[in-house]
Amino acid sequence: MKKPLLSLFLGIFMCLTSQAQENYFFPGETFNPNVPSPSEFLGYKIGDWHTRYDLIVKYFEKLDELSEMASLKTIGYTHELRPKIILTIASEANMGNLEEIRLKQLQLADPSQPKPDVSTMPSIIHQGYGVHGNEPSSAEAAMLTAYWLLASQSDLAKNLRENAVVHFDPTVNPDGRDRHSHWANTNKGFPPVADPMDREHNEVWPGGRTNHYWFDLNRDWLPLAHPESQAKIAWYHTWYPNVTTDFHEMGTNSTYFFEPTKPYGSENPVVPRKNYDDINTRFAKYFSKYLDEIGSLYWTKEVFDNSYPGYGSTYPDIHGGLGLVFEQASSRGHLQSSQRGDISFEFTIRNHVRSSLATMEAALDNKNFMHDYLREFFETAVTEGAKDPTKNYVFGDEFDENRNRMFVQFLMDHQIKVYENTADLSLGGYDFKKGKSWVVPTSQPQYRMVRTMFEEVTEFADSVFYDASTWTMAHAYGMPFAAGPSVKLGEQVINNTPTPYEFPDGKAYAYLIDWSDYYAPKMLFDLQKAGIHVEIINRPFTSQTQNGPREFSAGTLMIPMGFQSLSESNLVDELKTLSMVNHQQVYATSTGFNLEGIDLGSNLVGAVTQPKVIMVVGDGVSSYEAGEIWYLLDSELGMPITKVNSDQMGRVNLYDYNTLILPSGNYNSFSESVVNHLKDWINRGGTVISMKTASLWLNQKEIIKENMVARGESTDPKELPFAERSAFEGAKQVGGSIYMARLDLTHPITYGYNRETLPVYRNNSIFVQPSKDKYLTPIRYTENPLLGGYISNKNLELLKQSASLIVSPVGRGRVINFFDSPNFRGTWFGTNKLFLNAIFFGDKMD
Ligand SMILES: [Zn+2]
Repeated sequence: MKKPLLSLFLGIFMCLTSQAQENYFFPGETFNPNVPSPSEFLGYKIGDWHTRYDLIVKYFEKLDELSEMASLKTIGYTHELRPKIILTIASEANMGNLEEIRLKQLQLADPSQPKPDVSTMPSIIHQGYGVHGNEPSSAEAAMLTAYWLLASQSDLAKNLRENAVVHFDPTVNPDGRDRHSHWANTNKGFPPVADPMDREHNEVWPGGRTNHYWFDLNRDWLPLAHPESQAKIAWYHTWYPNVTTDFHEMGTNSTYFFEPTKPYGSENPVVPRKNYDDINTRFAKYFSKYLDEIGSLYWTKEVFDNSYPGYGSTYPDIHGGLGLVFEQASSRGHLQSSQRGDISFEFTIRNHVRSSLATMEAALDNKNFMHDYLREFFETAVTEGAKDPTKNYVFGDEFDENRNRMFVQFLMDHQIKVYENTADLSLGGYDFKKGKSWVVPTSQPQYRMVRTMFEEVTEFADSVFYDASTWTMAHAYGMPFAAGPSVKLGEQVINNTPTPYEFPDGKAYAYLIDWSDYYAPKMLFDLQKAGIHVEIINRPFTSQTQNGPREFSAGTLMIPMGFQSLSESNLVDELKTLSMVNHQQVYATSTGFNLEGIDLGSNLVGAVTQPKVIMVVGDGVSSYEAGEIWYLLDSELGMPITKVNSDQMGRVNLYDYNTLILPSGNYNSFSESVVNHLKDWINRGGTVISMKTASLWLNQKEIIKENMVARGESTDPKELPFAERSAFEGAKQVGGSIYMARLDLTHPITYGYNRETLPVYRNNSIFVQPSKDKYLTPIRYTENPLLGGYISNKNLELLKQSASLIVSPVGRGRVINFFDSPNFRGTWFGTNKLFLNAIFFGDKMD
């Protein structure tokens, strides 16, 4: 069929515009005509639309298909099943030898092997884009940069293909990317509207920054709570790139930021100074040159935290490479007015393309130097580790096998070597049992990550934190650990699978399950879903079990066989399966008459109601905290949770639920009738789980009546220089630090905990007095609570007088107030069980 004239004309026009566009991004360069540019492939000018992630993948598939110099690999999938891809580009010769090149790079990073001749090794460059979905310029820059590297006829491109292997991760957070792209595209006007008030520039809650569960993936390189980061880190350790980039956007009125970041205060103490003092400066020269050439303004050194190991630009610094953060002033949308005139999407993309090119040129010019640095980094890790007065960290919780295994796996995912502990040890006030504890020696190539996991830091060069000021992961896992002298190492852990428990034979009067194990709550919910009636025993006791007498703590689950609707054989089959799946030890007893403590039919034993949970989300609510709760219940319990938008609360009948979660937020948008309904429901027995600022709102509405800790007279100087404002005020914030709390082990909120102390995470400065009811502050801070992180002395004093958790009775119901962050970043497995206890046993807490 003949093409209509108009489409032919459009075709020619398209061809001309795409050429003009290549001139905008790559002035004066010629390209291999057999490789389509992104605009040729997509059919629109780059910058005219936000490119959907599936089209980015399609473009990379096309490059892979057309060229022997490009190869595409799927390394994992997001929650919404988008593929996580890496496109690798190098000369045909290098692509033919890719596995050999990779193994040599691993050999270079392994100080136990001879050092290879680095002059023959290509530079390994890892270009990472779009970890924040609503910072969209970088993924477009990824397509252009990959195109340039593959098709440009310039000497630099040729040289790079010969002497580098470049890995492109075009979008670290594809789910968030598509959420934002959809918003920007569907609200785009013709012509585009630059007015910042236009809907296009103002996404609805929760925005596209985060992943499916509203997590910031640029915090997840350390915690590895999500499949996107798990896939990324697994891949990272197969390459040990020399340079890794991480592209972002910031406020529309800003310019462009590249490293160095703020010296000392924002730097990570385990990273060698050479990284900051020497390498950063070498690379910065290239970024300034590339941006000077096109007249783009930029800044360096002022802020931007580079210390938290969960950033995409910091993790590589702790792995012998250079991690680089870039920030572009956002057009957020296709065109937005700023103090320097209208910023177009295309303009923001071009700056990131320039930095991508500058990074590759810098990496190439410093190829051998960066290889030597990688080697030196891991060699010094081993020697510095050997000099560390701490020879080993020993850890393990004898009461919780699943949480132990999770922590061991977590360390292994970061390539830390973990060994079995061969003898019972008493160290640092803990008893570590053989078979239930492990040893991590400091003298190993991942020494700096070992420190990241175990070290407590309380001295800081600065007092303003962009984010967490501490990240002792052993505390996040609630793991008892001690720094110790040399101990005999057992086998290195390779297979982390526990030996299955034996299921008890014979007829049972009741089955018992200890609540101490991390997966006991999941076991309980699985039992409830299967229609099995479960009770909880609220005091300690000793029962005659199939394994002989055994002591149980308060909070033990009981399945009484005389009160079940399932047949005995069906129930036992179900129980057996669930105990296997959840790795739970099930005990059987043939009598309710206990050897010690209360009997199984005591009035202190009661049915556990199946939770029906609703959580308020949407405008005014912290999406991070709501996301942490949603993800916890989905991933750890498989529990459906109703998420209701704050503006829909007027339609909710709370009597359909037994538990309401109010994440941190502002609930002033609730109408009077919503507030009255809420009051009525709590008074008649409802349970509210309230987080931090939500409790302030409940207090203001007089639903609860708790008291704040008095702050006293301000001791601030009467006047200070204007320029010192952010430093002075910033120092008053509690940016994210770890404190020791003391538990009332008889209160249901602490069921499953066996020690009186527990590290908790706090990132707010709400200080509430302990409850006037002396029984209802089950979690409070110790006398000397700071375990790690920055806090001002004044705030520390206020904290000592305040509560971590209080229960406020309201009529027949109650509010359980959390003032810390039990579910922080999906990785505080030491404290998220407190939250699960509130869900299962809320009605037993006052
Ligand atoms: Zn960002």
